[in-house]
Formats: sequence, C-alpha cells, structure tokens
Amino acid sequence: MSYPDSYYAATAVGAVEHPRLLESIRADVCVIGGGFTGLSAALNLAEQGMDVVLLEAERVAFGASGRSGGLIGSGQRMGPVEMEEKFGLERSRQFWGLAEAAKAEIRERVAKHEIACDLCDGQLEGIHKKRHAGWPEQYARALAERYDYPHVRALDREETRNLVATDDFVAGIYDSQAMTVHPLNYALGLARAATDAGVRLYENSRVSGYSQSDPATISTTGGSVTASFIVLACNGYLDKLEPRVASKIMPINNFLIATEPLGAERAKKLIAGRFGIHDTRFVVNYFRLSDDNRLLFGGGENYRRGFPKDIASFVRPFMLALFPQLGNVRIDYAWGGTLSVTVNRLPHVGRLKPNLYFAQGFSGHGISTGSFAGKVIAEAITGTASRFDVFASLPIHTFPGGTLLRYPGMVLGMLYYSIKDRL
Ligand SMILES: Cc1cc2nc3c(=O)[nH]c(=O)nc-3n(C[C@H](O)[C@H](O)[C@H](O)COP(=O)(O)OP(=O)(O)OC[C@H]3O[C@@H](n4cnc5c(N)ncnc54)[C@H](O)[C@@H]3O)c2cc1C
Repeated sequence: MSYPDSYYAATAVGAVEHPRLLESIRADVCVIGGGFTGLSAALNLAEQGMDVVLLEAERVAFGASGRSGGLIGSGQRMGPVEMEEKFGLERSRQFWGLAEAAKAEIRERVAKHEIACDLCDGQLEGIHKKRHAGWPEQYARALAERYDYPHVRALDREETRNLVATDDFVAGIYDSQAMTVHPLNYALGLARAATDAGVRLYENSRVSGYSQSDPATISTTGGSVTASFIVLACNGYLDKLEPRVASKIMPINNFLIATEPLGAERAKKLIAGRFGIHDTRFVVNYFRLSDDNRLLFGGGENYRRGFPKDIASFVRPFMLALFPQLGNVRIDYAWGGTLSVTVNRLPHVGRLKPNLYFAQGFSGHGISTGSFAGKVIAEAITGTASRFDVFASLPIHTFPGGTLLRYPGMVLGMLYYSIKDRL
C-alpha cells in the first residue's frame, strides 16, 4: 500500500514500512488511526511508560494528516471573538491558551526529535470583502488586550499586496507566531519518535471492530489486540466503525495542487516569504510556497464519496482567480483528502466508556488541535484529565439527519454559504 501521488509523497523523508498485524497480542493501549491524533496519543502514552500498539488501516498519515495544507493557525477553528460571544471571555481565553500549548508542543516535538519538516513561522489572513477591511485592527487589538497575544499585526491593502501579489485582498492580518509545516514529514517524524519510544506500529491493519469489554479485544483483518484502553483516532476516515460518534461529524473532501517550481525570483514576487496564507471565504483558499519554490494551493471541496476525476482542473480556477499571472504555469501534482467537520466547528473529544476515548472533527484545524487532542487523551489515560475535561465539555451537536441523511442537508448548507460569500 503506498501513498497517493502528491507533492508531499514525492518529497517524503524517512517513510518506513511497518508490518501488518498477523497475530494476537496484548497491550495497555490500542490506538486506532495513524494520523496526527493517533500518533500523538501513542507517543505521549509511550513516554509515560504505557505499552502501546497503533493500528493503521493503510500507511502512517495516509489520511488527512499526510495531505493537508500545512497551515498551523493560532487559536481554535472557532475564532476567539466568536468563542467569547458563545462561552464568555474566561473560557475563550482558556481555549486560546490550550491552542498556544498545542503550537508549543509542535515546536518542541520538531526540535526534540529533529524532524526535518520545513517548519516556518508566519501566517497571513487575506480579507476579501471591502466591508470587513476594518476587522484586522479590531482583531489585533482584541488579541493584544484580552489574550496577551501581541503577535498579530493589521495590514492595509498596500502592505498586504506587498506580501502577496493578488488584487483580491483589501486588507490582511499577519500572525508572526502561527506556522507552516510539511505535514507528511512531520507525521513521519512523529511515527519515528513513537516507535523509538516503544510503540508497536502496524500498517495495512484495518480495524473491523472491537468488543465492549474491559479489557477490550480489537480485531483487524489479520489479527487482534487485547488492551485496557482504546483510542479512536480515525477522523474523516471513520466510516462505519463507531456509529455512536459518526453522526457528530461530516466527512468532507478538500483539494490541493502544486505548481512546477517557479524559481526563486518569481516565487518571491508572488509571496514575499515562507509564511502561509488563507482567505476569509467560507470554502477557504489557502496557499504557500514550498521549499523548492512551488506554489502549493488548496481550494475547493466536495461533499460526496469520491474525488473529482481531474483534481488539477478542479482547483486551478480557484488559484487563477487570485493569481491570474499564473495562467501559463504547469501543475505538477494534484491531490485530495478527507477531513471531518462538526456542526459548530468545535473539536469533538471525549470518552464513550471508561476505556474508550475518541477525538475527531477538527474542522480544518487539525494539525495542532488533533495533535493536542492526542496528547490530552494520553494525559487522561495516565491519570491527569483536567485538560481533557475542558475539551470534552464542549457542546457538540448531531448533524441533522444523523449519519444517513446528513449529506443532502450539508450540501444545501454549503451551497448557501458559498453563494453568500460571492455576494
Ligand atoms: C486537503 C486538506 C487540507 C487540510 N489543510 C489543513 C491545514 O492547512 N491546517 C490544518 O490544521 N488542518 C488542515 N486539514 C485538516 C487536518 O489535516 C486534519 O484535521 C488532521 O490531519 C486530522 O488528523 P487525524 O489524525 O485526526 O486524522 P487523519 O489524519 O485523517 O487520520 C485518520 C487515520 O485513521 C485511519 N483509519 C481509518 N479507519 C481505520 C480503521 N478502521 N482501522 C485502522 N485505521 C483506520 C486512516 O487510514 C487515517 O490514516 C486539512 C485536511 C485536508 C484533507
């Protein structure tokens, strides 16, 4: 089983093949899913002395983790001002603090395990609606005054244009402490750290079900694991494995392209640095330069099983709408992945039984939130549940129509918001 063709797969460092599970074994904890959430849970548990098995259906980071845009934002997917309105300032500040801890964890992991994953500082949010042009000033002030976060700067149209060569943005917000990363290489580095810490990692070992007992028996197509705890970390790829949490998330597909290398000069004229950029559209465009000066551009999504036949032709118009000057540029890679969103875009982290934990629904913010959810689950299993409890207390709603009928409702909703975006 290999990785889907992508810029990340073509530039992967240290992709080791792990064995398939073909026997019955025992462990303290069995983690299901080898993306950021599962890898982080496994690594943190092993560092606390637990005997951990991780079962991945395909390859490490085969899912969203190895295919994402690589933008590591500050805060939660629901912005701090909206969180204040919903939960009050104190709680919103608490979640901001947890998101800062999640960013710090990534920096620490990259340094500690010497993971070569192009971790770079900086992220720019491009404002595309004229009536929102005053928002950056207000946002920067709110973060500095209420969140002790002085790292965000409001940019006017000209300053934004000097950083990103598009006429689409009327203003911008620059966050010098947000980051970008080569997500597959970060995940492969975490996997190496996990196996070094003693995690037994199996690939090509899809879990078909597990018992509701204590200890539980987790069955794969080739073997089984008996474990005191299960951590479910399948996110948008969960499918029918656990119906009790499936109705809280909607799997959606999102797509990226990588251009041919643009050369250092042309690349610099397009984007004046290695920071990430995203806009404020409902179906967000996000992009950045790669280490070899390609434009990595994400745009467009669909809400059904299966990807468009020609992903490059699907994404290219989104890129050209922002950068018409790239009309003659070749697209070298095009790929898609599946992530999961919740109704209110808050992460869904919890416990179905005393020995069955799960985390999912990071809603496009999972590099940091997913990794951190894995860490707080590991803390809860090893006896310190305070940060886990904060996440688990978030209100998460069932999608109208549950698992069966959530798609038609979602498609209508998405259509409504994307039309609103264009007005
Ligand atoms: C195109 C795209 C762009 C994105 N861009 C960004 C971004 O810029 N910034 C950001 O923060 N987030 C982004 N995201 C979201 C982010 O990638 C995810 O939130 C995050 O990777 C989720 O990690 P995870 O470990 O929970 O899930 P995944 O990485 O999806 O991992 C789940 C794993 O579980 C495995 N699995 C499923 N079922 C089974 C089973 N039965 N048995 C064993 N294993 C199983 C799957 O094979 C998969 O490897 C993007 C996502 C996509 C798809």
